[in-house]
Parts: sequence; C-alpha cells; structure tokens
Amino acid sequence: MAVRFVIIGGGPAGTQAATTAARLGANVTLIERDVIGGAANLWDCIPSKAMIATGGAMSFTRRSEGMGLNDTTVGLDLDAVKVRINAIEGHLNERLIELLESQGVRIIRGTGRLTGEHTVVATSGDGTEEELHADAVLLATGSRPRVPDWAEPDGHRILTTRDAYPPPELPEHLVVIGSGVTGVEFVHMFSSFGSKVTLIVSRQQVLPGRDTDAAAVLEEDFLARGVVLLKGARATSIDCDGATVAVHCDDGRVAKGTHALLAIGAIPNSEGLGLEPAGVQDDGGYIPINHHCQSNVRHIYAAGDLSGKLPLASVAAMQGRKIAEHVMGLHTREHRHLDYDKAAQAIFTEPEIAEVGMPEAEAFAVGRKIRVTKVPFSASAKALINNDPRGFVKIVSDPATGVVLGGSIVGRHAAELISVIALAVTAGLRVSDIVESLLVHPTLAEALAEAAE
Ligand SMILES: Cc1cc2nc3c(=O)[nH]c(=O)nc-3n(C[C@H](O)[C@H](O)[C@H](O)COP(=O)(O)OP(=O)(O)OC[C@H]3O[C@@H](n4cnc5c(N)ncnc54)[C@H](O)[C@@H]3O)c2cc1C
Repeated sequence: MAVRFVIIGGGPAGTQAATTAARLGANVTLIERDVIGGAANLWDCIPSKAMIATGGAMSFTRRSEGMGLNDTTVGLDLDAVKVRINAIEGHLNERLIELLESQGVRIIRGTGRLTGEHTVVATSGDGTEEELHADAVLLATGSRPRVPDWAEPDGHRILTTRDAYPPPELPEHLVVIGSGVTGVEFVHMFSSFGSKVTLIVSRQQVLPGRDTDAAAVLEEDFLARGVVLLKGARATSIDCDGATVAVHCDDGRVAKGTHALLAIGAIPNSEGLGLEPAGVQDDGGYIPINHHCQSNVRHIYAAGDLSGKLPLASVAAMQGRKIAEHVMGLHTREHRHLDYDKAAQAIFTEPEIAEVGMPEAEAFAVGRKIRVTKVPFSASAKALINNDPRGFVKIVSDPATGVVLGGSIVGRHAAELISVIALAVTAGLRVSDIVESLLVHPTLAEALAEAAE
C-alpha cells in the first residue's frame, strides 16, 4: 500500500512536500484552510515584492534624469496596484492547484488538527469533519505577524504588514516600527511611493546582525530619500487621535505620523493543531526538529516558519522537499541534509542586499582565517550604464584552499546575482572557478569574477 502522507498547511513547505511525495508515489492529502500557496503568496513574499516592483519603477524613473529622459515625473494608482497584486496571486494560485491535482494530491479545504499519533481531522468550512489515517504527517501551518500588547492594529491607521497590500489610502507619513528585513522593505516601498517615512530603529544600525557595510549603504539611501531614522529607540505605545498617530518610545521620543506599521516579527500558527493528543512537543509554539525535520514523534514532521528555523519561503520549500524524500525512504541513498547556513537571503530594498554563507563578522568572531575581497559597482561598466553604481560585491573564501565560504552583494539585482555565490558555496567551488567562468560583457556579474580575483 502507498505511504499515506497527510500535510496540514498549503504554503511553500506544504505544497513542495506534497508535489515531491506524490511524484515519489505517496498517497498525499493536503489540508489548507485559506489559500493554496500560503501566506507566502497571499500576504508575504508575492504582494510585498509586487509593491516593491512598482515602487522601484517609480524611484528608478525619478532617478533617471541623467539617462537622457526629459520627463521623470511619475504618479501612482493604488487601485491598479491592488488589481495587479490580485492578478499575480490568482495566477500563481491556479497554477499551483493545477500542479497538485495533476500529481494526484487530494486537497481538502478546511482546518486540520492532530487527534492522535496517526490521525488527523479536517474540518471544512461547513463544519463537516473527516478523519484521516496517516503513516506520516507534516505540520506546515506557518506564522503570522506579531502584535505587541501595546498596539491595536485597526487596518486603517495602525497596520500590520497584512493590511498594507496596499493600505486603504497612501499614508502621508508612515511610522515604521522595526528595522529588520520586513521593516526596511516597507520603508523602501512607501518612500518610493512618495510617503514621508520615519523608521524606529531599536539599535544603532538598521538590519541588526547583518553586514555593517550593507546596512550603511542602505541607511545612506534612506537618508537621501528623506527618511527619518530614530535610532536607539524602542516603541512602547501608540496613540491614535483622528488622523494622527503618535508612537511613543522608551527614551521619551515620540514619532508622529498619519499611519503606523508594525514590523516586529512573527508568531507561529500552532494553536488548535492538536499537538498534545499526538504527543508533539513545542517550544513557545514552534516545533523543534532534528536534521530530518522530524519532531520528537518521528513520523510527525514540521517545516517552514512553524519549525522555528530560517523564516524564508525558499527554506520552507526545501524542507518540504527533504521531508518528502525522507518519508519515502530516500534518505538512505546519498542525501544531503539541509544546511541552513548555506541559504541565500535577500532584502529587496534599493539597492538590494543579498548574502549567503559565512558572514565576515562571524568568521572574525570565531577566529577563522578568511580572505575577503571587495569590489565596488562604481568600477562596473554595466552599473554605470544602468545609472546605478551604488554598492559592492564581497566574497569570503578560505585563504588556504580558495574555497568560497560566502559573500554579500549590495546593488541592483543583488538578489539574482547572489545565486552564483550560493552555487559556489553549496558545490564547494573555489574562487578560481568563478574567475575562470567566461561571463557576458557588459554585466553586473563581471564584478563577481573581479571580486573573486
Ligand atoms: C512581509 C513579508 C515578506 C516576506 N518576503 C519573503 C521573500 O521575499 N522571500 C522569502 O523567501 N520569504 C519571505 N517571507 C517569509 C515567508 O513568507 C515565510 O517564510 C513562508 O511563508 C513560510 O512558509 P510556510 O510554508 O511555513 O507557511 P505559510 O506560507 O505561512 O503557509 C502556511 C499555510 O498554512 C495554513 N494553515 C495554518 N493553520 C492551518 C490549519 N490548522 N489547517 C489548515 N491550514 C492551516 C495557512 O492558511 C497558510 O496558508 C516574507 C515574510 C513577510 C512577513
């Protein structure tokens, strides 16, 4: 009999696990209470990047005077932006459903919960319950924005990221709380749209914990756009008085605007999942997993944001793939474990920031000998042609062997370009492999070869 694999949650983790397992011969049931594609498609990656694409087109046009354009003014139609986002999401959703169904995955529209070690109950919208028996279960229910007890989002003036695609009106002055990846992407988005933006930064640098050179380039761009950076301040309360919001900080400073956006992390969707009856342990709602993504109950797996690992759609999908292979017994063949340290990450600001592998600071912290080479895009022909010479390429390698350990790129298309370094890190390539690749001229990628030199 085929392996019965039940998946709760149809985001990148759940859908990737479903298609991979179905291809390998499992009998797969996927339970999703909302939209196939998950929060990634509906609330997070897709709408945010679609809005950033519009903002990017606007700011690029405004900066294009030097390219021979004699009219660089642009206007924004928020309703058209909304229609575009819905169209992209609808297209992706349809394609995903087609793919799942073509592979024989059974999709149940409803809420799933464990009722025992091998049983899952799916409750449909009309209250109908169905009990499913499973040889293996994947919990992939994702996460949602964290709302602190001092803020009450109303979807109008006080927003979470989920209220912002786009918000009912373009904020005249947006106060963004949180300067991590999500916060800075929203600063970029709304300042490109023309909103005045204040960013509350709890430390002395945006993007805490990230490459300080990259953060410095981003801060420079924010300041050039007129973004106000309130550094070393933590928000403690928000007052909303008609058309004004006031965000109070722990050091007494107050940031006033017309709207406030909370970008202070996420919490896992694990309530009502039936962890207890199945004996699955959690840690603050996250499910601790081993390197095969198994929970303490070995045939119950967890992936994606719920697993508390790197909260990225790409990581969730890769976990889903590895889990499906493990469920189908493929781990006994040559099977590489997922190495979270080798996940490429990007921040879709202007310039974009992308990183992979060992950061320079970490290497110094652990006393590892490294070679760091850095080339600015101002030396790149293509960057000058693009009218955007901001940023740099940095490659970290082992001085003894030349093996590429990591790197960071700040600049246009950094999120695409980092793939070259990601491949080098995953495949254990040497800097000489990059140097000797015959690249297209003129391209931004040439700066990678130069940095590898
Ligand atoms: C603003 C923002 C932008 C982001 N941009 C990026 C990006 O550009 N690139 C990137 O890699 N990552 C990005 N991320 C992170 C990414 O969205 C998440 O890491 C990813 O969505 C996690 O995938 P997942 O499969 O764990 O869960 P999700 O995508 O959250 O999907 C989980 C699904 O489970 C369903 N569900 C929950 N409980 C139940 C239940 N009991 N029964 C049935 N269904 C259930 C939910 O409805 C949901 O559809 C972003 C995050 C945010 C907040």
